[in-house]
Amino acid sequence: MKLIDSHCHLHLIDYEQLNSDMATVVKAAQTKGVTHMLCVATDFSEHEQLCAISEQFDSVSISTGLHPNESMTVKPDLQILSALASHPKVIAIGETGLDYYRDPSAQHRITQQAWFTAHIAVANKLNKPLIVHTRMAKADTIAILKAENASNAGVVLHCFTEDWEMASQALDLGCYISFSGIITFKNADSLREIVKKMPMDRLLIETDSPFLAPVPFRGKINQPSYVTEVAQSVALLKNMSMESIANKTSENFQKLFKLNIEGV
Ligand SMILES: [Zn+2]
Ligand SMILES: [Zn+2]
Repeated sequence: MKLIDSHCHLHLIDYEQLNSDMATVVKAAQTKGVTHMLCVATDFSEHEQLCAISEQFDSVSISTGLHPNESMTVKPDLQILSALASHPKVIAIGETGLDYYRDPSAQHRITQQAWFTAHIAVANKLNKPLIVHTRMAKADTIAILKAENASNAGVVLHCFTEDWEMASQALDLGCYISFSGIITFKNADSLREIVKKMPMDRLLIETDSPFLAPVPFRGKINQPSYVTEVAQSVALLKNMSMESIANKTSENFQKLFKLNIEGV
């Protein structure tokens, strides 16, 4: 079985606390059948480290972007974004998007929106797909994706936790939707209903590690090998075999990110 973790942050794992190291964590994932991982940027300061990670591990791809919760200058720096994103090892732009969960000020919302728009422009210019983080910002996220023609380069809404209304609007725009270990949480019935309704050709799976470890690892440090728990949960909800979930989500990943991964 060949699984892909479509969204993790290998570089944010606290290896000391885990009493391990990155090579061991990557190996553990591979042993569980996780043949590929996309290690997603949250800040420009991570760029060199991410490039080094992708040099070290063939099974790890990387992105470039500025997370909406990171501190941002009021005016987006298109030059730096564009320069880092052009790196040949960078296969995607993000994570970017809108996060109103922490109730940012009106000015902070406008800044997030400006950066989101800038990421979309760079994604379209370089034809690299966009990794979108969206929380409590349904209408604005969909409106900006639509207005900026984000689906030209491909889009994934990652770690989806919103409602079916938003999911179907995103699907109409041609977006993929990725689900994390949250779908294994006890109180996530409404999210599981969305998984049931999802078309199989737009569904991705992820860990978002080190955050949000799935049941039965909830509360622990998450890692890419745990994407198996997410796949298992999707298999149950879709009444499909693990094998077909693995195949289909891996196929979707390669299609969206324009990759041809050996052995998948
Ligand atoms: Zn995110
Ligand atoms: Zn993330």
